[in-house]
Amino acid sequence: MSLEKQLEEIAKERYKKSIKACSDAQLYDCVLQLTKERMAEKPVIKGKKKVYYISMEFLIGKLLSNNLINLGIYEELAEILKKNGKDLTVIEEIEPEPSLGNGGLGRLAACFLDSIATLGLPGDGIGLNYHYGLFRQVFQDKLQKAEKNDWIEKNSWLTRTDTAFEVCFGDRKVKSILYDIDVIGYENGCNKLHLFDVETVDEGLVKSGIHFDKTQIEKNLTLFLYPDDSDVDGNLLRIYQEYFMVSNGAQLIVKELKEKGCDLYHMDEYAAIQINDTHPTLVIPELIRILTWDEGFTIEDAVNVVSRTCAYTNHTILAEALEKWPLAYIQKVVPQLVPIIKELSARVAKKYKNPDVQIIDADKRVHMAHIDIHYGYSVNGVAAIHTDILKETELHHFYEIYPEKFNNKTNGITFRRWLLSCNRELAAFLTDTIGEGYKKDAGQLEKLLKAADDEKVLDAIAQIKRQKKETLAAYVKEKEGVELNPDSIFDIQVKRLHEYKRQQMNALYIIHKYLEIKGGKKPARPMTFIFGAKAAPAYVIAQDIIHLLLVLEEIVNKDPDVSPYMKVVMVENYNVSYAEKLIPACDVSEQISLASKEASGTGNMKFMLNGAVTLGTSDGANVEIHELVGDDNIYIFGQDSDTVIKHYAKGDYVSREYYEKSPVIREAVDFIVGKQAMKAGHKENLERLHKELLNKDWFMTLLDLEDYIKVKDQMFADYEDRAKWKRMMLVNIAKAGFFSSDRTIAEYNRDIWKLN
Ligand SMILES: *Cc1c(COP(=O)(O)O)cnc(C)c1O
Repeated sequence: MSLEKQLEEIAKERYKKSIKACSDAQLYDCVLQLTKERMAEKPVIKGKKKVYYISMEFLIGKLLSNNLINLGIYEELAEILKKNGKDLTVIEEIEPEPSLGNGGLGRLAACFLDSIATLGLPGDGIGLNYHYGLFRQVFQDKLQKAEKNDWIEKNSWLTRTDTAFEVCFGDRKVKSILYDIDVIGYENGCNKLHLFDVETVDEGLVKSGIHFDKTQIEKNLTLFLYPDDSDVDGNLLRIYQEYFMVSNGAQLIVKELKEKGCDLYHMDEYAAIQINDTHPTLVIPELIRILTWDEGFTIEDAVNVVSRTCAYTNHTILAEALEKWPLAYIQKVVPQLVPIIKELSARVAKKYKNPDVQIIDADKRVHMAHIDIHYGYSVNGVAAIHTDILKETELHHFYEIYPEKFNNKTNGITFRRWLLSCNRELAAFLTDTIGEGYKKDAGQLEKLLKAADDEKVLDAIAQIKRQKKETLAAYVKEKEGVELNPDSIFDIQVKRLHEYKRQQMNALYIIHKYLEIKGGKKPARPMTFIFGAKAAPAYVIAQDIIHLLLVLEEIVNKDPDVSPYMKVVMVENYNVSYAEKLIPACDVSEQISLASKEASGTGNMKFMLNGAVTLGTSDGANVEIHELVGDDNIYIFGQDSDTVIKHYAKGDYVSREYYEKSPVIREAVDFIVGKQAMKAGHKENLERLHKELLNKDWFMTLLDLEDYIKVKDQMFADYEDRAKWKRMMLVNIAKAGFFSSDRTIAEYNRDIWKLN
């Protein structure tokens, strides 16, 4: 049936209306139905072996545009709607963004699902169906306020299935239900994202904001992603969630294997289980439990086959982010796993005496990553420098035991979402210039290099950037009420708020510039500083940094001496949909983590692909971007990771010394507690942040601040050499092919999963 006819029939059936007569919201509903029907016609990707990607988060973003692109019917549908006086881009806006993830780790999982299906590999995601997901951020009184993010509608991408399992906790049993979301590859078949839920969840449990009774497990289990874990009940709830996810996952995997006729002693020939960070670690003891309890395996046989099936991805070297659960908590939530964890721990203790590699430590805490490393067959980092640091420093003792398990898989992003969908203008221009091939083979973007000195091509790329800046300016005006000048430089830092990501350093630069302008030194061109970031509600200093940014927004934008030259805006509730609007409009991509701390970053890749130039430290994938584009097409500053690691080892970084040595630093830091800031903001937040910077500054902001100012000033000066800048944009786009998640997934498959 023709697409138009199908849509007409859906509209008639649902609303007794023609396409023309439907409201946009009704039409969204019809287009959703149409897309789901078309996806259901696509073949399920099959093969002997399947990868199961288990992750606490899937930051999938809105799905309509991507699914239409992957089905190859976007243009056709846009035409049909246009004929009927409708606009597909308006319809797309109506879709609520699923709230199933938090930041880069969850977004990576989403990009991976897209690439797995696009490469035609059998692979499903396994996670949880959080009703309110991560919180929705609102600003009140220049502070972040967390509200529940109610995203699930009656008609959505979720399909309720008949699959249900029983999950036994120490003090109760719950029955799960499974919802699926179809994942369609680009011009390929379908895989699934499996999201487990419980029938008994009670949304009424949430009283105000994101507060609820953390002890009512049947009612709260899938309410929120990362519920507050600053008390014991919060910790226990996390373990309940994690076990609920992996027990369902393990039961689903065993069920599918049996349906395939797999002899479970050869499970590894049929399944690879990728453990995304430590949250799904309990899948290892859970599978061993199922095999020994239900399938008659000896513990020896169970341990061996599970260890050949599970692989672990490490995402961080921040000690506080590596989970260590008190054994007593696990005893309370899942007592049945405790003897297995003790057995796994005893086997390690017998072989290795080093306390740093034990599973259960002297304080009776269970190190989740250590289970993954001892009882998985692969350990991968997510960028070259990150994997090197794991091998040489953080996980060095493990590397000595298992050198063969360690490997690098530099992260990637799906070009369908981060180019074809979010920047249709650039994608169309690239197709005209270098042909269609780059869509499936991202390396072909390098063909663009041939045009590096072609003024027409360079102007066209700059023109698209300018157009995207106008579109963003209109959106920001509508959403945030701030007027942006598209002729200014758009300098963007969007990512979760964390001290290691150093939004505070950017804030200090803004203060520095503000004071310069007040002193009469006008910049060559106006500057626009855009931020977007959610902070964990219990992370006090992160809240203070948000407060500072909102204070600066008011001071700068309201100052008639300064605002013609400079604007600051912190957008509310940064998420995937906002990212898709911000990234194509960016000139300067801020990637300024403390070297060694950002495992990879993927925001950096999205910006590069859309023609922004990176200003960053030698950290994560910035290192690989630098190698690809060369010194002339990136701005790198600050101390390198070796130096930083040495500072930590010696404990010799003293932020106050930098403050006292440099009048520029002093002036910027003291502005935080100066008269103007205190008047616009709250004494408590600003004083606490000031004190933190002077007395602790654990992520060494002041170490790199002077170099940052110098390099950023140079970058802004270079922006005025328009020919040079346009060429930089082109080179960045041309060299971005390496960061396609299709490449990353091909490597996972070649080295770890070995499907087909
Ligand atoms: C890509 C992305 C991230 C990760 O950004 P980093 O700069 O790599 O930390 C976080 N949030 C959203 C919404 C994203 O799209």
